[in-house]
Amino acid sequence: MEDDELLVPLAALEHWSYCHRQCGLIHLENLWAESVRTVEGHQLHEKVDLPGLEQRPGMRVARALQLRSDVHHLVGRADAVVFWEDPVWPDTGRPFPVEYKRSSRNTFRHAELQLCAQALCLEEMLGVPVPAGAIFYGASKRRREVVFDQTLRDETLQAVRGVLEMLQSARTPPPELGPKCPECSLQELCMPGLPGIGGLRAYLRGMD
Ligand code: SF4
Repeated sequence: MEDDELLVPLAALEHWSYCHRQCGLIHLENLWAESVRTVEGHQLHEKVDLPGLEQRPGMRVARALQLRSDVHHLVGRADAVVFWEDPVWPDTGRPFPVEYKRSSRNTFRHAELQLCAQALCLEEMLGVPVPAGAIFYGASKRRREVVFDQTLRDETLQAVRGVLEMLQSARTPPPELGPKCPECSLQELCMPGLPGIGGLRAYLRGMD
């Protein structure tokens, strides 16, 4: 695949924001490990992963909607997109993406980047502004609205460039040993405390 055909998975932005190395382990090395939190996250998503369109008073709700942006090199899926009826946009309605997360713990900004990238895709695909969306937390059953202001958009595009550069280089970033490591489901695969492990992995990959 040519470099200019590389696409950034929407989910990679959350991983990149949490830890560049985690993003590389998942999206370059195809490594994954389940933890209690990831299993609970899958269980939550099982309920929203079936594609479908639902008509409700004043809105339509599309679930598991495929998204793509050629301008920003993004691809992925929105858990749900609410299309509010709006006389200004009678054909499409006003899109409002909703991302489902297990809990808000350690996920605020990371999830916001992923949601904002969904908005960028929707704006390009539909030609309408998407000023806000929401994150629904399964554990608390609460919904938090997210406004896609310029700061968040800039931060999201910066993350997209970072992931693209990582995919182009095909090099997994080095460990970022810190307080987030004990909670990381990939800790055993990453071995963040072992010096030089990044170089060892690259060496072993070169022997394949
Ligand atoms: S263990 Fe730490 S350095 Fe390694 S992927 Fe997880 S958060 Fe990143």
